[in-house]
Amino acid sequence: MPQPRKQFAQHWLRSEKALSRIVSAADLSKGSGDGSGDRVLEIGPGMGVLTRQLLSQAAAVVSVEIDRDLCEFLTKKLGAIENFLLLQGDFLTLDLDAVLASLPAFQHPNKVVANIPYNITGPILEKLLGTIDHPAAKPFDRIVLLVQKEVAQRLCARSGSKQFGALSVRVQYLAECEFICDVPAGAFHPPPKVDSAVVRLKPRSLAVPAADPQQLETLVKLGFASKRKMLRNNLQSVMERDQLTELLERLAINPQVRAEDLSVEQWVELSNRFHP
Ligand code: SAH
Repeated sequence: MPQPRKQFAQHWLRSEKALSRIVSAADLSKGSGDGSGDRVLEIGPGMGVLTRQLLSQAAAVVSVEIDRDLCEFLTKKLGAIENFLLLQGDFLTLDLDAVLASLPAFQHPNKVVANIPYNITGPILEKLLGTIDHPAAKPFDRIVLLVQKEVAQRLCARSGSKQFGALSVRVQYLAECEFICDVPAGAFHPPPKVDSAVVRLKPRSLAVPAADPQQLETLVKLGFASKRKMLRNNLQSVMERDQLTELLERLAINPQVRAEDLSVEQWVELSNRFHP
């Protein structure tokens, strides 16, 4: 049996309870064989514990695993299952659409369910959701991920809380984020150094999107640059202090706010009303 490798952030989930919370958060359906069922994308199947459950509840599962030895192991274990497709490679550089183009049963997965490698959480989120500037062209219906607890808290934080940061604004601009449950380090073998949590993301478009997404991205980046400073000080390089004060007053926002006090909608409004 393959031993867990540090290099690929391998920690096998061994808690039945956590597994079932992940799977139920994805709300999967097999459909009736007419293409209506869920097609799931899994990143990093590892030894296949989650994969096996996904296979029993979804119409099709595509799993992308970087580790060759694990791929060999998984092929022996699950290779005969008809609705399973295993792709060996780095999820971050893989052109999934191109690979799946000739495989109708697996095309356009509509959900992502995965216990991902934590060392590449940011790039994975970006590949799944896109960025403020370039949202994903074909967004998923749902994304259920096991992530580091601290990241889960930041993804799901509300404005005004300490955890609400640039990541919260960037991801919540693109998706509704829900905290599903905690998963303690002991639920894995070997246990990671950090606690974990399950989150569910539902990609969405805001009712009022950013008129100039690039500008919003710049304002968020600068606004959160120094978390202890007031927003107006962080934005000094792009906006006159008086201009920002006036703008905030017009939005009925206290001019002394810090970046974390503005909701995603307020960030968008600020950007939409700012004309350099
Ligand atoms: N889902 C499994 C394993 C999680 S550990 C379980 O719950 O037990 C993370 C997995 O992601 C490992 O199998 C690791 O080999 C794989 N992985 C790491 N980097 C990857 C990458 N860039 N692309 C695809 N898989 C990757």
